[in-house]
Amino acid sequence: MDLGIAGRNALVCAASKGLGLGSALALAKEGVSVTITARGADTLAAAAERIRREAPGAQVKTVAGDITTEQGRADALGAARELGGGFVDILVNNAGGPPPGGFRDWDRDAWIKAVDGNMLTPIMLIKAVIDDMIARKFGRVVNITSSAVKAPIAILGLSNGARSGLTGFIAGLARDPSVARNNVTINNLLPGRILTDRLRNNFAGKGPGVDVDAELQRNAATVIPAGRLGSPEEFGEVCAFLCSERAAYMTGQNVLMDGGLYPGTY
Ligand code: NAP
Repeated sequence: MDLGIAGRNALVCAASKGLGLGSALALAKEGVSVTITARGADTLAAAAERIRREAPGAQVKTVAGDITTEQGRADALGAARELGGGFVDILVNNAGGPPPGGFRDWDRDAWIKAVDGNMLTPIMLIKAVIDDMIARKFGRVVNITSSAVKAPIAILGLSNGARSGLTGFIAGLARDPSVARNNVTINNLLPGRILTDRLRNNFAGKGPGVDVDAELQRNAATVIPAGRLGSPEEFGEVCAFLCSERAAYMTGQNVLMDGGLYPGTY
């Protein structure tokens, strides 16, 4: 299937590894120019090299900075617009997730940080690009959220809360006639358990001598209907599909990518 987005221009946030990198890689393979961001410049440069290697001819730009800050967003948007002749056609919102913990330990600052990173940052980025998307009658926004939006994970309360706020806002905005009637779609992509450093770091059973990847896979084999963890690459391919011409009639959706882990009918 030709996704029909070759020559488009994407900003993929938090993309030096994991789900962001998987998404940038899949978009670049479709001929999309990508600007990728992360705080650590070295890992980011290595990610850009990987994209250039696996998607020969791809236009890749890197912006080192914290996407949850105003400066980080301004730098990312400036670089992406420069690469795309002034416009961003595709926005993939992503950032690090809030830390796990117990709600009795989270003070107001912890909540503000979570809401800032996982709700307000994507909203501010959407606000910055959406009117141009509407005017040009093409726009794709994918927010990387979490399966915790549908099935909350107790120790990830900051994530459950902040991401649910984003999900509620997107449900309304995606259906706003000024958006939906102009070929601008906004969807959320919900990872279940995808093998990334974030998943490895969250793994409770780690200790000296424990092979974390093997333990995670063993656990996945028993609890995930698909019998395995997901890969960042296959996650990225679904992200690229949501960004495609082919997905133009799909908006305001929460798409689970979890190997069947979420047990509900709806
Ligand atoms: P990851 O492998 O740890 O990668 C995170 C990426 O985001 C890195 O490139 C990191 O680079 C960058 N990043 C983090 N904070 C940033 C910031 N403030 N500004 C710019 N870049 C930033 O994590 P992941 O598994 O891909 O997770 C991505 C998102 O999906 C997270 O919000 C996570 O909570 C969520 N999620 C993941 C899973 C899963 O199974 N993997 C499941 C549910 C939800 P730097 O550190 O250098 O900035």
